[in-house]
Amino acid sequence: MPGGQGVKTVIVIGAGASGLTAARALEKAGHRAIVLERGGEVGGKCASVDIDGHAFDLGGHVCTTEYRRLAALATELGLDTEPTTPHRVFDAQAGRSRPQSSAFFTYENFQRYRHLRDTRFPRLGEPGLAHSAKALSAPARQWLESHGLEAMAESFGAGYTAAGYGSLDEIPALYFLKYAEMTGLLSSARDLLGHAGSFTIKGGFGTLWQKVAQDLDIRLNVEIEQIVRNAGQVRVRACLLYTS
Ligand SMILES: Cc1cc2nc3c(=O)[nH]c(=O)nc-3n(C[C@H](O)[C@H](O)[C@H](O)COP(=O)(O)OP(=O)(O)OC[C@H]3O[C@@H](n4cnc5c(N)ncnc54)[C@H](O)[C@@H]3O)c2cc1C
Repeated sequence: MPGGQGVKTVIVIGAGASGLTAARALEKAGHRAIVLERGGEVGGKCASVDIDGHAFDLGGHVCTTEYRRLAALATELGLDTEPTTPHRVFDAQAGRSRPQSSAFFTYENFQRYRHLRDTRFPRLGEPGLAHSAKALSAPARQWLESHGLEAMAESFGAGYTAAGYGSLDEIPALYFLKYAEMTGLLSSARDLLGHAGSFTIKGGFGTLWQKVAQDLDIRLNVEIEQIVRNAGQVRVRACLLYTS
């Protein structure tokens, strides 16, 4: 943009991962981004809290070997990563916990799933859901059992329920498989940043977004109340929130 021609000032609403990523991309492209965030800190659902010197992630935490852009960002910002804590499943009836089942992770199971995917719902990885809805409308557990993929329910079911996505008896197979594909749970990528499995940001996921925010113009405690588009103009009404 020679001489600043075409440079735009852009208001980004929200300093979560999406807003900060957009603002960073705009700045890199030569524009000016101002991020307005109603909270008192950045990160949104990717923030962390510190309790007795330990970082606890309030939302985003797990990255799979498909998180290549996030890995590149962490490397660029000089942040260390570490493997996520292994999940354990608590058996309420037996009164003890056990490691999460790895029954699904065999060559035969992967091949069985791949074959079904390629023949019945090959577009699952594309944006949207409608293209695969017909093939995957049954409840997840029912669909998995009727296709010989019980091990998939065993390996992933508890995690889905624990993350708040619902029971496999209720959520459609479509959501179950779309999420697994999108997040990289079924990824064949070998490793990322030296991690063979899932990893996270050392010191808390929130530190990544705090670091991204350092180079940006962020206005905290500013809530957007209204956006009005009229005759090519955009009017944004914001409110400054007072904090104690
Ligand atoms: C419990 C939990 C666990 C999760 N685990 C994972 C995981 O392991 N791996 C993973 O990849 N993802 C995970 N996620 C999902 C991930 O955290 C979210 O997808 C991601 O953080 C969403 O980012 P965002 O910027 O789109 O939205 P948000 O994080 O919600 O950010 C939106 C921001 O906009 C601000 N805002 C909203 N309205 C206004 C307004 N009117 N004016 C000004 N500011 C406003 C909010 O305060 C907020 O800071 C998890 C989510 C939750 C809740």
